[in-house]
Amino acid sequence: MLFEVVPPVSGVEEILFKAGEGRILSVDEYVQVYDFFTRHRPNLDKSTITYSRKVFIPLTNLCRDSCGYCVFAKKPWDTRAKTYTLDEVISIARIGEKLGCKEALFSLGDKPELAYPEFSEYLSRLGFRSTVEYLIHACDKVNTLTSLIPHVNPGTLSWSQMKEMKNVCASMGVMLENVSERLMEKGMAHENCPDKHPKARIAMIKAAGSLKIPFTTGILVGIGETVRERVESLLALRTIQLEFGHIQEVIIQNFRPKMDTRMSNFPEPQAEDFLATISLAHLILGGLTTIQAPPNLARVPLIEYVERGVRDFGGISPLTVDYINPEAPWPHLRSLKGELERMGYSFRERLCVYPRYIKEAGWVSRVFDEKIKEYVGDDGLVRPPWEAF
Ligand code: SF4
Repeated sequence: MLFEVVPPVSGVEEILFKAGEGRILSVDEYVQVYDFFTRHRPNLDKSTITYSRKVFIPLTNLCRDSCGYCVFAKKPWDTRAKTYTLDEVISIARIGEKLGCKEALFSLGDKPELAYPEFSEYLSRLGFRSTVEYLIHACDKVNTLTSLIPHVNPGTLSWSQMKEMKNVCASMGVMLENVSERLMEKGMAHENCPDKHPKARIAMIKAAGSLKIPFTTGILVGIGETVRERVESLLALRTIQLEFGHIQEVIIQNFRPKMDTRMSNFPEPQAEDFLATISLAHLILGGLTTIQAPPNLARVPLIEYVERGVRDFGGISPLTVDYINPEAPWPHLRSLKGELERMGYSFRERLCVYPRYIKEAGWVSRVFDEKIKEYVGDDGLVRPPWEAF
């Protein structure tokens, strides 16, 4: 049984029974279930939890958007603005290699060259017409010169850019954030963020599907959206996943206010709301993809995430901070493993590509064949002696 309802609650119990039979619920029914989940925890099977050992490479923190919660993006005149040179990129990757990382996660701002002519000139001097061209080159170098496998969070890309990118990275990601266009309005989280338009994000996620790119996406919880909009966002991802099957994980990320941002005084989502959202994601997407939540942003013990349906903790780095949430340290991997095992779960390292996409042909460029073969066992997860905790 997918969900055990104790004590029985009429109405919701019936809705959950329908869901357990694999039937699609209406948005209203999901909202009702969400409310139930704020007070009740589902009873789920214990299984394997995964993480990816990676280094973060924040290629550039310039960005043309201005998300209300972002502490990563900087303006070119800010002394903290930084674009990594290729030498710096390789140097981070090499340290990551020594620390047992398998993944190089490139994160960067969206199309800064369109907003800042000085950055466009900088790229031209290096011989690139866009940030994406520079990113492709940097991924290629990391792949050629190190044992790491690139995964990119490049902002919104076109179909042809992604097609090119597929040759130099094994997987890609973009957060949907939310399907609500309301969040683009004045005073809302995505005001002045053309690249956060839900239609642009959905187009990119679908384009990745048509190109068979193993993909990461997710929603950001608590940025001014309603519960109904959260439901609609998860349902939109479900629809895309049913069509393309390329979404290997959906991140459920809780908003955390940060100093010096427009949303510094905005309240964080309550723990029960966030846990209910994880349960809802599991109900809508469980069985179709993996639910992930960032462990360093947790306000409750991580085991509560797992009991709600989280089966992956994403990228954890032994070297670099989470540049998007620099105030939030990574959990200690060995302690986390011990805790999960005591609770009856196993904790394993995976690559940036999930086992299913490794085992089936056509998802990952052949240039990664050798590295993947070296790292993973028959189950598609990292095998000894490479597995690192
Ligand atoms: S969250 Fe991403 S898109 Fe938004 S301002 Fe920050 S770097 Fe740019």
